[in-house]
Amino acid sequence: MKVMKFGGTSVGSAQRMKNMVGLVAAAGNVTVVLSAMSGTTNSLISISQSIKDREAANAAKQIDDLEKKYIQTAKELLNDKNLLEDALGYVSKVFEELRGYVNAPFSIKEEKEVVAYGEKLSTNLVALYMKEKGLNAVLLDATEFMRITAEGEPDQEYIRENVNAVIARNPEVDIYLTQGFICRNHLGEIDNLQRGGSDYTASLIGAAIAADEIQIWTDIDGMHNNDPRFVEGTSPVGELHFEEAAELAYFGAKILHPTCVQPAKYANIPVRLLNTMQPEAPGTVIFNAKPTHTIKAVAAKDNITAIKIKSSHMLLAYGFLRKVFEIFEKFQTPIDMITTSEVGVSVTIDNERNLKSILAELEEYGEVSVDRDMVIVCVVGDLEWQNRGFEAEVVNALKEIPVRMISYGGSNYNISLLIRKEDKIRSLQLLSQHLF
Ligand code: ASP
Ligand code: MG
Repeated sequence: MKVMKFGGTSVGSAQRMKNMVGLVAAAGNVTVVLSAMSGTTNSLISISQSIKDREAANAAKQIDDLEKKYIQTAKELLNDKNLLEDALGYVSKVFEELRGYVNAPFSIKEEKEVVAYGEKLSTNLVALYMKEKGLNAVLLDATEFMRITAEGEPDQEYIRENVNAVIARNPEVDIYLTQGFICRNHLGEIDNLQRGGSDYTASLIGAAIAADEIQIWTDIDGMHNNDPRFVEGTSPVGELHFEEAAELAYFGAKILHPTCVQPAKYANIPVRLLNTMQPEAPGTVIFNAKPTHTIKAVAAKDNITAIKIKSSHMLLAYGFLRKVFEIFEKFQTPIDMITTSEVGVSVTIDNERNLKSILAELEEYGEVSVDRDMVIVCVVGDLEWQNRGFEAEVVNALKEIPVRMISYGGSNYNISLLIRKEDKIRSLQLLSQHLF
């Protein structure tokens, strides 16, 4: 069985829902995970804010507006009179429930209940449309099997047991449809997997049912090999290793969040990024790929600060790096890149919140200097050290650019270079020209 997850824009209108159901019908035996219609989760958060601020009229107005949108969508989606009646009945019930929250005590618990309606609405409408199309589909309530622990982490044991039990109770079904994002917490209350969490749902369900593949359908044709905002003629990357995808995600590429793909990674299930507007395109598949001996993609991360600590004491000393790292730990500031020499160490951070305090303590250990407005350019691919020539190609591509730091060998999948903000676009272009 495959898992197919559709994001907010892929269910963003009645027409989009129809397209999406067409893709599902063609796929056969699947579990389908849906986001809320695009904009709905934001509206529900805004409604919650108005309720919290005791702006009842404002909340009521927003609820009315949102309801109109769903009535309209249901009318555009469904032809069958009875099914449309069911849809309108469901929409009216949901919005009556939402109105019940206005002027009542409202805490984080109620807010989570309110925010959960987005996915309930989208899946209920799509389930009725699947019925109209005569598909053999069943709507599963995600809050029956998606659960987080007291620490807020997905309870993978619970999920595995319960999602498989629910599927077993519904045998001989082609399409299992369910909500992304929403779950219950350890107290049994409605909760969620944080914003954008539908991808996480898909990955968790895929791992739980040992799916053949997890497909993430959006409106872009996979992950590109460079940033299309700055570089012309980028192209989608066919295959990425999970580690390469994680590096790229961290460095700002618009790709799945690394935590979202972790369950798939450990269960060894490929994650494929596909485009609803271009369903035949192969997209990008992320899996535990074998070495390919190629460089795959380039990404950049802005607003980086580099800190250099030069110490004569570091010569032949041990414990120096520990002291330096402890200062960053004390001020809860993660380090991204690090390079060392016998007399000094350079590190980068992307959060200057505690920079002053950090610098004050570092100065006890040596001479400290800071470079701000820097950018990390990250090149990912099969960069296993025994492969020859890749580091040379990367450095060569940037020979006209002043490079502040180079980090290589930390993983088999990446080389990172620190450059000035003003050299970013040129650097990305040069790398594309030389590498792809
Ligand atoms: N609807 C939720 C959000 O907008 C979850 C998702 O779309 O992934 O954050
Ligand atoms: Mg999303």
